[in-house]
Amino acid sequence: MKIKSAEFVMSNSNVINAPKERIPEYAFIGRSNVGKSSLINMLMERKDLAKTSGKPGKTQLINHFKINDEWFLVDLPGYGYAQTSKKKRTIFQYFIENYFKEREQLVCTFVLIDSRHNPQKIDLEFMQFLGENQLPFCIVFTKSDKLSANQLEKQLTSYKKELLNFWEPLPTSFITSSETGFGRKEFLDFIDNINKN
Ligand code: GDP
Repeated sequence: MKIKSAEFVMSNSNVINAPKERIPEYAFIGRSNVGKSSLINMLMERKDLAKTSGKPGKTQLINHFKINDEWFLVDLPGYGYAQTSKKKRTIFQYFIENYFKEREQLVCTFVLIDSRHNPQKIDLEFMQFLGENQLPFCIVFTKSDKLSANQLEKQLTSYKKELLNFWEPLPTSFITSSETGFGRKEFLDFIDNINKN
């Protein structure tokens, strides 16, 4: 897929106010600092379409972008923001939960995982939540350039082995690097194929 246009549409704290247009929608989510903004910018070949920030939990809104006038890319808040108070966190999770329960045009969710990390409870719980709500998702292993080819293979094999305790068959996964652009074509082709069918 060639990216001809990528435009910011709007940010919302409530899914009720999200764009009404019925075009395919793809959501990006993961723990803060997983590399979500960098990945979105890499895929869209834009420097600062999604706002990268060193400060975890800064982007706590549902951000809609319209791509090629054909589909929505949705940048969701990072989950597991440890520095928020317990109360704030509950509200935060409720509004993410609502997005997933209400957004009928959502086609697929990309759950981002840092390639260097072992499975974390919060990621597994989130995938469980998607599964329980019959929402298709893929896993995107980010920052792959931070590991050698050997380390990467070892890490992903052990990650998938652990996932198999919960998921059989395993969800589709992608390996990406926003530094090198690795995985870009495969990722965009995946979306393109769904949109065409
Ligand atoms: P977000 O909070 O999930 O949106 O994460 P960001 O995109 O802001 O990235 C968090 C940090 O990881 C930043 O310092 C990025 O430069 C770095 N980062 C993100 N993606 C990559 C990647 O693919 N490779 C490397 N080496 N660093 C990355």
